[in-house]
Amino acid sequence: FLSRRAPAGSACSCKEKGPLSQADYLDFFKEKLQRINHFREAGHDYFGTAIAHQEGSHVWVGDRKMLMMASYSYLGLINRPEINQAAEEAIQSYGTGAHGVRLLAGTFDAHRELEHEIADFFHADDAIVYSSGFMTNLATVAALVGKGDVVIGDELNHASIVDGCQFSAANFLMFAHNNLEELEALLKEHAGKRILVVVDAVYSMEGDIAPLPEIIDLCRQYGALLMVDEAHSLGVIGETGRGIQEHFNLPDDAIDIKMGTLSKSIASCGGFIAAKQEIIDYLKCNARGFIFSAALPAAQVGAARKCFEIIRREKHLAGRLRKLRDQFVTGLRELGFDVPPTESAVVPIIFSSEQETLEATGFCRKNGLFVVPVFYPAVPMDKPRIRATVTASLTEDEIDSALSVFQALSIARTQKGLSRLMNAN
Ligand code: PMP
Repeated sequence: FLSRRAPAGSACSCKEKGPLSQADYLDFFKEKLQRINHFREAGHDYFGTAIAHQEGSHVWVGDRKMLMMASYSYLGLINRPEINQAAEEAIQSYGTGAHGVRLLAGTFDAHRELEHEIADFFHADDAIVYSSGFMTNLATVAALVGKGDVVIGDELNHASIVDGCQFSAANFLMFAHNNLEELEALLKEHAGKRILVVVDAVYSMEGDIAPLPEIIDLCRQYGALLMVDEAHSLGVIGETGRGIQEHFNLPDDAIDIKMGTLSKSIASCGGFIAAKQEIIDYLKCNARGFIFSAALPAAQVGAARKCFEIIRREKHLAGRLRKLRDQFVTGLRELGFDVPPTESAVVPIIFSSEQETLEATGFCRKNGLFVVPVFYPAVPMDKPRIRATVTASLTEDEIDSALSVFQALSIARTQKGLSRLMNAN
């Protein structure tokens, strides 16, 4: 966008054309929307579908009941009465807003109680809660490293980590997905400097897991601090859903900085870091997205606390979720779908083109399955996909009924051509 403007000090195009009008700006924005508008005009309006109501594993779109297979609420906790009640009780005590930022008047007892709960859950000294998961990554990475430092990330890290790395002003380097040789080469090259390595525990578009024990060894060997994003691992991996540390059976201090969101398995909103006391104290005074942004509202805090209590109590949920995931993945592969290896609740179903992915999404939606398509730049250009998810609130029968929709889709693809079958529907 900026490149369309004449550079400062150059012969100004305004002299010939006059200053840009609002219409010039709107044209630019419209141009950027061409791709999504093209999908919409072709009848494929699957982005931002509004949900009217939710109950268990189902959602209502308008008055249509659909099986939800795109939710981040991996443990199926959204709308559980005891969580709603905890949110209501928090509102009764504190109201709906905060009195500002945490460092001034915005800290409730409930914030500190949630932070203690998170620290205890992850066996850390302390925790800090931010108002969103995105802000947690952005503000934390940017506070931990700066000019003259090095920050190294997996190429498939979430956008909030990438933005934090860029925002930090540190030398930002990436290694190919899960490629330990490349990570080691970068660490070796910069050994002796302050280095932060940041990875996702579970990669959100692939569903695979970071090779953490090896990454930890490399960080120790080359003197780097390690930060791990547990957004898609909390509640999902590890025997009782405690995330990647439990999954690999690692000691408590194996990960220097554990990041997580309160918006996925935890049916709330917000994000957190659990770490050593010095790190948490430092972030509370130096992470700009914490210092200068309003505190998380009490309802979100109350709901989040109740979800941690449920994960501790219902230790079987993570195992149940993984069993359902296996049933779904095995079924899809038997039907001939391309499903890469996944160890999480994320089930990517790869198609050969965006058009085919859109038509497959439309077919699933028409048949009562709420799934979403994902395209470049969220995933590689040649790997468009339906990014399905499995949640613990689904039943075996519901997975079977989802598979029967995919079976019909597979028949449509091979026998009649998907477009024709969809038109006949
Ligand atoms: N990290 C990862 C890996 C994510 O997938 C997301 C969001 N999907 C975030 C951070 C940001 O979390 P939130 O949506 O809670 O802001």
